[in-house]
Parts: sequence; C-alpha cells; structure tokens
Amino acid sequence: MTTDLTRATAAELADLLGAGSVSSREVTRALLDRTAAVDGAVHSYLHVDEDGALAAADDVDRRRAAGESLHALAGVPIAVKDVMATKGLPTTCGSRILEGWVPPYDATLVARLRAAGMPILGKTNMDEFAMGSSTEHSAYGPSRNPWDLERIPGGSGGGSSSVVASFQAPLAIGTDTGGSIRQPAAVTGTVGAKPTYGGVSRYGLVALASSLDQAGPCSRTVLDSALLHEVIAGHDPMDSTSVDAPVPPVVEAARRADVSGMRIGIVRELTGEGFQAGVQARFDEAVQHLVDAGAEVVEVSCPSFTYALAAYYLILPSEASSNLAKFDAMRYGLRVAPDGLDAPSAEQVMAATRDAGFGDEVKRRIILGTYALSSGYYDAYYGSAQKVRRLIADDFARAFESADVLVSPTAPTTAFRLGDKLDDPMAMYLNDIATIPANLAGIPGLSVPSGLADEDGLPAGFQVLAPAMADDRLYAVGAALEARLTAAWGGPILGRAPELTEVAR
Ligand code: GLN
Repeated sequence: MTTDLTRATAAELADLLGAGSVSSREVTRALLDRTAAVDGAVHSYLHVDEDGALAAADDVDRRRAAGESLHALAGVPIAVKDVMATKGLPTTCGSRILEGWVPPYDATLVARLRAAGMPILGKTNMDEFAMGSSTEHSAYGPSRNPWDLERIPGGSGGGSSSVVASFQAPLAIGTDTGGSIRQPAAVTGTVGAKPTYGGVSRYGLVALASSLDQAGPCSRTVLDSALLHEVIAGHDPMDSTSVDAPVPPVVEAARRADVSGMRIGIVRELTGEGFQAGVQARFDEAVQHLVDAGAEVVEVSCPSFTYALAAYYLILPSEASSNLAKFDAMRYGLRVAPDGLDAPSAEQVMAATRDAGFGDEVKRRIILGTYALSSGYYDAYYGSAQKVRRLIADDFARAFESADVLVSPTAPTTAFRLGDKLDDPMAMYLNDIATIPANLAGIPGLSVPSGLADEDGLPAGFQVLAPAMADDRLYAVGAALEARLTAAWGGPILGRAPELTEVAR
C-alpha cells in the first residue's frame, strides 16, 4: 500500500484501521518517525510519549484482533495541548513554574480519548498558561509555522496547530479562551473548533480564565474535528459548568455539509478596515461559495464588539490572577530559595518562586487582574467589563434573530514574523479582535481555511459562529465551504505548503 499514513486524515485512518488494512502501531510509528524528522524545526511538542503511545496502539490492535467492538476512532493517534492534565505525563502549561510536575490524574477529556482507544502521542507547546497569540510566550521556546519557519503558528495553541499542519498528528486538542484554537488554525491552514462554553468538560484543564476557557478539536478537515468533538463533548459531573444536554449532531452535520436556505450573517464590525486585504479577499470569495451552495447572506451589526477587547483584557486578567494564585511553590512544580536568606519565610519562597517561575506576560496579567479586582477599582474596571460582556451577548442574540450563523475572517492578518509583536502587547492582543466576542458570550466558533492571501501566499481563516449548543451549524457551514474550496484548489490547502526540511529533534 502506498498511502502515506502521516498525510491521511483521521476519518481515513479510522477506515483503514476498521478494515484491518493497517494497525494502530504502524500509524503511531509513522507519526512518531515524522516527529523525529521534523519537530527539531517546528517544535510542536514539549514532550513526546513514544512508549505510552505505542503501548496504547498495541492494546487497541490486540483488542481489535480479539473481535472487540471499538470506538470509530480507536487506534487514531492524537496530540494534546500541555494545559490538559495527563496522568503520568508532564504537564507544564508552557511555564517554568510547573516544570517537573506530573499530574496524578487525567482530565476528563483525556480520559475520554483513552477510553476511545486513541494513543496520546505527546503534549504540545503553548504560550505560558495560554496567554498569547504566537507561542512566543512559551518558557520552552516558540513553535514555528510549517508554511514559513520564520513565522508564528498562532497562539496560544501553536503547538497543536503546527503538529497537525506538519503531519505529525492527524488530530490535536486545543483550548480557546479568546481564540487560541481558532487563530492558530487560521494562520496554519488547518481547522479548529471552539465548542459551546460548557460543551466539553474543563475538569483537568489548568484554568486560565474559568468563565472563558473551552477545550476543542484541531485537525486538517472539518469532518475530523467533528469526529473528535463527539469523543470529547458531553456532560461531566466533575465540572459544575458542564452543560447537561445532548451533544449537538456535529458529525452528521459535517457529513451532510448542507447550507441550503441557511441565513449567513456578515458581522459589519468584523470586516473591512483593519483586516489585511488578502484575508478580506479570501473571506469575500468564501461567502460567495456559500451563496453558490444555496445560503442566503444578510448583514448584521454588533456595535458593542468595539469594546470586546477592552472588556476581555479586564475579565481575563482578573480571573487569571485568581486562578494562578495556587502556584505558590508549596503545592506544585518549581520551588526557588530566595538569595541570601538563611531561613526564608513561606512568603519569601513564594515570591522568589513566582518571580523566577512566571514569564513577563503572565506577570503583566497578574498585576493587571489584581489591580482590576482591588477594592475601590472593582466597580470601575471589573464591574464595567462585566456590563460590556452582557451587551456583547445581547448583540449576538439580536444578530441570531436574522441569521442562523455569523461569519467573519478568523484573524485580521496572516501569520506574522517571530519577534514582530513580542515587545508590543497591544499589537499582539489585536490579533484576537474577531475571536474574543464568542468567548465572552459562550457561543461556539469554528475556523476553516479560506485560501492563501495574495500579499504573502500564507493561509487565511474563515470564522463561523453559531448560537450556544448549535455547534452542528458550524460544521455544516465549514464542511460545505471546505468541499467547494478544496474542489477549486484541486486538493487540500496543506498540499500547497512547502516541504519541511528535516531537522531531528
Ligand atoms: N490570545 C488570547 C490571549 O492572549 C487568547 C488566549 C487563549 O485563547 N488562550 O489571551
């Protein structure tokens, strides 16, 4: 057989495995070999679990041979963002403060992957505690964009986007607090979905901002994301914000790819000015493809989105400052003794550890959040931000009266160069202008490749947003668009990415 197993989609691998044409060990081995060859250049992984992945693959192969009935994705390997607790595997969140921490338990999502028989290849790189849009805030060095190694793969989930884009894994798990699944997907020519808030359990997801965080799928096709979505979604009594309702029919929607009669709302505030010309051009063409597929286009206005970024950068730091208080040198990971003190107090050890263990962006947000929550400022900052959050949810509710889904470019630009925005936090924050509103309102969003921008030949993303618990609509629109675009391109967009030079890990 000539199939390159690293290039196969998860759906194709599932078929091959189900038919017995290939073993999970062969698939897992091929992906690990690919990692050994290219991850020295891309740096998608913080930790590769070769032995664990192969053992899980062998277990599935044995069960299949014994005639056990297995999950459709059994034997299909996956990479997991290093923000999810994995029993027996290091979990650092891209931070020095968690260096050496090995969780004694699995996140619910991870337990579900294991129960489905999916070998976990390793843990992917990320901005420290998921703060950033480029992975440059990882304490372990940035990941790189397979389309151009001098460019960012997005963030905070740039490890998960690049691992999929560089054919080291067909699937990965990301988390999206303000866009960290969707923006990395956009700039790497991959697919990423942020489910409805509460749609996928957060138990065992190291919290950045608890009211915004949501884990979800990263893949190379819309159907693959839907298949993974179905594995990880559903009620979990261990997460008090988990939605106790049936999982939306995402796989069925991805397979049908039917948008006829669907009302597609273009968000006026998320197009035009501020968006790179080539990104905007691919967006406009994508909308036309959906019209050709039978959708109807309406224009909607969400005036409060103007304040989304400001509200987000008060709410997120406030919640983060509280969530990160637990990294105190007593309970997890790093412990640093302060210089020149014989018998330091607990507070002095905490201060020295947090100073050494947290990077600049994390410190910036802890200081901002602590300030915004302090008495005397709480109402003026945090309280106002919460009111803006309500207005944004109201804007969405109104827009969804005239549209079934809303669309926009996912990110305003294609991948920028490493180092370009590192010294300018505001410029970095602005990359999430189109993704943040969905997190503030708790609604689901998907990014699907829209093509390559004329200026730089780099991928652009098309974002679809739907009302809470209508995640299936994302997949219907995403799959319809993907089908038309790949036909127009004569194959998947990643087929046009340059071959990676091999740089051993
Ligand atoms: N880039 C955004 C931030 O820095 C989003 C992060 C995320 O979604 N985890 O907060």
